[in-house]
Amino acid sequence: MSAVVVKGGEAETVTARRLAGCDGGHSIVRKQAGIAFEGDTREEVRMIVADVRVDGLDRDAWHMWRHEEGLLGLCPLPSTDVLQYQAGIAPGQDPEPGLANMQEIPERRSGHTGIRLHAPEWSSLWRANVRLADRYREGRVFLAGDAAHIHSPAGGQGMNTGIQDAHNLGWKLAAVAKGASPALLDSYEAERRPVAPGVLALSNARLEQALEEKGIPTRRDASTMQLNVSYRGSALARDDRDETARLRAGDRAPDATGLTTAEGERRLFDLTRGGRFTLLNFGAPTAVAVPPAGLRTLHVVGRPTGPGDIADTEGHLTGAYGAADRTLVRIRPDGHIGLISDAGDVSALSRYLATMG
Ligand SMILES: Cc1cc2nc3c(=O)[nH]c(=O)nc-3n(C[C@H](O)[C@H](O)[C@H](O)COP(=O)(O)OP(=O)(O)OC[C@H]3O[C@@H](n4cnc5c(N)ncnc54)[C@H](O)[C@@H]3O)c2cc1C
Repeated sequence: MSAVVVKGGEAETVTARRLAGCDGGHSIVRKQAGIAFEGDTREEVRMIVADVRVDGLDRDAWHMWRHEEGLLGLCPLPSTDVLQYQAGIAPGQDPEPGLANMQEIPERRSGHTGIRLHAPEWSSLWRANVRLADRYREGRVFLAGDAAHIHSPAGGQGMNTGIQDAHNLGWKLAAVAKGASPALLDSYEAERRPVAPGVLALSNARLEQALEEKGIPTRRDASTMQLNVSYRGSALARDDRDETARLRAGDRAPDATGLTTAEGERRLFDLTRGGRFTLLNFGAPTAVAVPPAGLRTLHVVGRPTGPGDIADTEGHLTGAYGAADRTLVRIRPDGHIGLISDAGDVSALSRYLATMG
């Protein structure tokens, strides 16, 4: 398959075996792949969004005003000198995202006359779209991020969801490129698409709350953190635990602090970062005789002496993983658990690893 990429006015044709469309809500890739984007556009829910330099406001905080016309937010963007301007536009109000209209809104809604906007770097009129692609894949074309699901920003879910899509897809594409079965790619839609309806429902609920309160709900609870996203039941999730187990294959691999290594104290996430597979071995260090290339093995031992040895000094790791003395846990590059074997079943692990190439 080929794509024409225009860079600096120069067109270049790129040929590739697979294509990931991460090109946002208006995705050309999605349209050309013929993937339907079902849902609604709520024309009455609109917002001017822009990046703009502002005089008369400090950059220490996100400034927000509730007003009967709608909310106004000016949020400093780190590492820049601009603020993001967000102004809800009620039916009947001027929706023009130009400087003159944008300047009048803070004057009316904040009561301050000292806020001066410069010409925006970009500005647009955002409309609430709530849509979900009817599939995340068409042959060798995949969708991720807003190209696959779009919803209101209330609840702050869009980027987080898109990054998890890309993380899920990325390691699978890499594994298949290195020789794993292409069937591995089937698990992308199977794992990620079921997450999206919940995200759409949550952001819809948050949007209704924002419209009612004429402000952005700032209180966050576990539902907005996405730490409970799980792929239990996926074809890639294998364990010998029962339904009642607190942690199962498919769940997000939890962190654990207080680990002693030969190099000093570490937390688990320090040791598993970097987009590789990790085997956590609570049993005998010889469990996997020939680990495949790219598999990082961490052995839980009484006293660390070599690379990969970790002592669970405070018991946090054993507690978080509900581990027994032979437990094997395989953590995927996207931070989810692929396999747990409390029986220390090395052959199950080897079979599992074989499917990943
Ligand atoms: C006001 C607002 C506040 C938000 N706040 C949050 C928040 O707090 N937390 C959160 O998680 N999410 C938030 N979101 C949502 C978040 O911004 C999006 O979900 C996220 O940016 C989607 O990322 P993406 O890479 O999938 O798509 P996009 O960010 O849309 O990126 C797609 C890219 O593809 C490029 N592109 C498109 N077509 C082509 C083409 N044909 N050729 C070349 N390039 C192309 C575009 O220029 C763009 O750079 C907010 C959104 C808005 C509007």
